[in-house]
Amino acid sequence: MSAPSLDFVDQDTDSPPLAKAKVVLLPRKALPFYGRHPWVLSSAVQKVESLNGKKLKEEKLDGEPVDLYNEKNKFVARGFYNSQSRIRVRLFTWSEGEALDETLFRRRIAQAILLRDQIGYEMVADREESATRLVFSEGDGISGLVVDRYGDYLVVQATSMGIAKRLEMIVGILQDLLRPKGILLRADKSMAKLEGVEFTEEHHWGELPEGQLTIKENGIAFGLDLKEGQKTGFYLDQRENRRAAAAYMKGRRVLDVFCYTGGFALAATKLGGAKEALGIDGSKKAIAQAEANAALNNLTNCKFEVADAFKTLDRLQGEGTRFDAVVLDPPKFARNRSTVNSALMAYHRVNRQAVDLLEPGGILVTNSCSGSVKREDFLLMLSGVAQKSGRDLQILEVRGAAADHPVSATCLETEYLKCVICRVL
Ligand code: SAH
Repeated sequence: MSAPSLDFVDQDTDSPPLAKAKVVLLPRKALPFYGRHPWVLSSAVQKVESLNGKKLKEEKLDGEPVDLYNEKNKFVARGFYNSQSRIRVRLFTWSEGEALDETLFRRRIAQAILLRDQIGYEMVADREESATRLVFSEGDGISGLVVDRYGDYLVVQATSMGIAKRLEMIVGILQDLLRPKGILLRADKSMAKLEGVEFTEEHHWGELPEGQLTIKENGIAFGLDLKEGQKTGFYLDQRENRRAAAAYMKGRRVLDVFCYTGGFALAATKLGGAKEALGIDGSKKAIAQAEANAALNNLTNCKFEVADAFKTLDRLQGEGTRFDAVVLDPPKFARNRSTVNSALMAYHRVNRQAVDLLEPGGILVTNSCSGSVKREDFLLMLSGVAQKSGRDLQILEVRGAAADHPVSATCLETEYLKCVICRVL
């Protein structure tokens, strides 16, 4: 047999390039990307040019694959470009030969589903009643894609341009791998704005459930509305924390502040044997759902009120009402790093109010979903509350999100949820 011809060896040069352009970093900016951090901020970029070094219109590259180079013209990684976002490139591969194509997405989505199988969230007998986050953006190596499964339906959020432009392909993969009855696209409007993604209205593939859907979490039934609910419908990240908190609730009178559809209150009473629970939320729809959920589980000792949480905490304190347990699960207080200090002050204030409402020996379950507030800072805030209130706080458990929200070790920004369970003496 003759040796392969040069033509054969060189055939790769004829295949289409794997990127549309080159993004060249400023000197000394490449280190985080060798460390596989996936976000290239605009402040790290020196220039964007065509593959043969010519100038080009950056907007034309939005959502397209680009190659990241260091200032010495060496390949670093490949990702999707977006001229309209502060995150100029979201990196997907560090292998020069790997294309950002359907094969890559299919492999990563399948790998994400496999994790949920392994933790027992996905391969469940009562699939039509369970709910799981199947894909968690950077945590699953797919920056900008969130997929939640609620029974036989999927809810997809696209929070980056690269993903938004590939939705049909991604939906095709999901249909193929999971055979859902329907897939609903929900727009995260604030993210869409930051990314310049235009979703005018919500969209779906296949059929959608008629009216409400019921899922079960830790054996508790929750009704939800895929189209109208907050985020993708339910706060799946708190699944294990609701169960962990319930273990401390036996015989207690529980106040669940920022209760949404009653997740903690229902777990406290039904799983934990709490004497009674009062849930507070500012959203009328959420409280109506919480009441319906209590009825669905035949719980007559869960009450709910539409009210402003901060005012209610003040009022209860003024009235001298006391509880044996308080759960705090406020919305994000810090949107970014510049608001961390004011967020920490707000956390201090609301946690102080909660501590003041607790009987000696009471349980505080305090949460923060602000990614920019670090775990240590949150613990220091609690230390400040203990000092100022003169109460001893014993930290019993420091927890994060459920395992279907994996944290990427090279993108620690994916660690956002803190749940601290304390006893307050
Ligand atoms: N604990 C819930 C999730 C809470 S999400 C669960 O387990 O599912 C945060 C909630 O805070 C939302 O439901 C939102 O409606 C509510 N919220 C935001 N600001 C509020 C305020 N000032 N007073 C009362 N509720 C508020």
